Amino acid sequence: MVEALLYDRLPERAVRCNICQRRCEIPESKRGYCLTRLNRGGTLYTLIYGEVSTLMVSPIEKKPMFHFYPGSPWLSLGSLGCNFRCPGCQNWEIAHSRVGQEYPDAQIEAQDISTGRGTEYVSPEQMVGLAEDYKCRGISWTYNEPTLWFEYTLKGAKLARGKGLLTNYVTNGYITPEALDLIGPYLDSYRVDIKGFSRSAYRRIAHINGFEGILEVAKRAKQRWGMHLEIVTNIIPGYNDSKPQLKRIASWIKKELGEDVPWHVTRFVPHLKLSHLEPTPVTTLEGAREIGLEQGLRYVYLGNVPGHPGENTCCYQCKSLLIERSVFSIVENRLDNSRCPECGARIAGIFS
Ligand code: SF4
Repeated sequence: MVEALLYDRLPERAVRCNICQRRCEIPESKRGYCLTRLNRGGTLYTLIYGEVSTLMVSPIEKKPMFHFYPGSPWLSLGSLGCNFRCPGCQNWEIAHSRVGQEYPDAQIEAQDISTGRGTEYVSPEQMVGLAEDYKCRGISWTYNEPTLWFEYTLKGAKLARGKGLLTNYVTNGYITPEALDLIGPYLDSYRVDIKGFSRSAYRRIAHINGFEGILEVAKRAKQRWGMHLEIVTNIIPGYNDSKPQLKRIASWIKKELGEDVPWHVTRFVPHLKLSHLEPTPVTTLEGAREIGLEQGLRYVYLGNVPGHPGENTCCYQCKSLLIERSVFSIVENRLDNSRCPECGARIAGIFS
């Protein structure tokens, strides 16, 4: 076990974890909400350092990120556990897994699903070596919430930087500002969910009480650390598909992050406790895209609808087709040195 970073010691050997905004107060011999952090004798340990559940090389489009080295391969890996309990989680087999059952002194309280999904240890050095061997542009921590194995991703990000590799978090954004500030110097890109724009929506979708901190940390990632940011809203019928909700998300992105930050509105595919729902109608996604464009965003994409023209990048000025995509592949990239070849408008992002 590796000792955790960013925790406070409290009376009676309790600790407070400051990795995510839950800020769990954890009595001795107990674990935090995510089950990945154990208080043993007043010292907090991470149980998932280097414990990899999923590892593959995949294109950056799969995150999805469309304005950051399009078409480049990334070593993508995840561990187990989550600090949210989304009833329709698409990665529930790893995110809702009961982590570290070999630690019998820790009660399992927070989770109600056991998948028995295993892990394999991959050291930070091995991770970076794999990214080099497979000629990846960078390393993406994804599949489960990357904040939970913060210590491992921090070490990996530092090593990756030293080898000229880029780094990426695919995150629900519930990391604390102080954790972000520790990894900020080594993190190049931040693909963050905005799941709704009301406390009630977040309560229903993610089982958390406040979402304002997610917005503040996203701003901090962009403004203080200069990360490349892209936002995803997975639109779930009856949960976050109302026009006022979508309008508030789009208008916040425009006002606080800027018109150049891409917004991906993606189709919900039924899973887990929301298996009874229908997939999001394409017309709802098209309506969301219209809302985003009306609010002044330049790049609003449809996701999980293969072959839809909403996957493509068009010039915000003359509307010419610039990057044609099919599922996660680039069919054609017509950008000329990050500019529209027709009207010369500069397209935000890094495309070389
Ligand atoms: S990382 Fe886990 S233990 Fe730490 S505050 Fe978040 S849910 Fe609690």
